[in-house]
Amino acid sequence: MSGFMASPEIEALTQALSRLPGLGPRSARRAVLHLLKKRETALEPLLSALGAVSQRLSTCQVCGNVDTLDPCAICADPRRDARALCVVEEVADLWALDRARLFPGKFHVLGGRLSALEGVRPEDLRIDSLVRRVSGGGVDEVVLAMNATLDGQTTAHYVAERLETYPVRITQLAHGLPVGGELDYLDEGTLAQALRARRPVA
Ligand SMILES: [Zn+2]
Repeated sequence: MSGFMASPEIEALTQALSRLPGLGPRSARRAVLHLLKKRETALEPLLSALGAVSQRLSTCQVCGNVDTLDPCAICADPRRDARALCVVEEVADLWALDRARLFPGKFHVLGGRLSALEGVRPEDLRIDSLVRRVSGGGVDEVVLAMNATLDGQTTAHYVAERLETYPVRITQLAHGLPVGGELDYLDEGTLAQALRARRPVA
């Protein structure tokens, strides 16, 4: 227990916030104090936004993104080029690539990466649904945007093999991503460069 005494409700709120990425106990306490002081302009809007998202939260049946719509806003957007498909490991990677509209096409989230060590097999990932999407036609290019880790690259090779019988161009993000680096932590310039310089998978 910290020296600061608050009611169990406020303590629970502080603890829940302090578990969020990027927040520690100190910033959680500051956030809680702000919410308590600004009930109408901060607490109530946050509460209704959380409630609305929580009620409608779903996984997109097409691409695996999380959104309050299914199909998600990206899959439903007619301005996006459905002929180009970018395959990523996690939703965070999709959001990173979509942050600055770096990729004009659509996405497919695998939900992880193959890993012998962690026992992640192809059937644990959304690879079959990717193959179905591609075999359905209308896709010209599949961009493999896995992390530059050993498991990420193993996953990229496996996915490329599964897709090689279909008439699609399979490309891969250019080298230059830091080894072990997560896409989400890269700045937009680096991501844009890696996308622009993408190359065919040998
Ligand atoms: Zn979607």
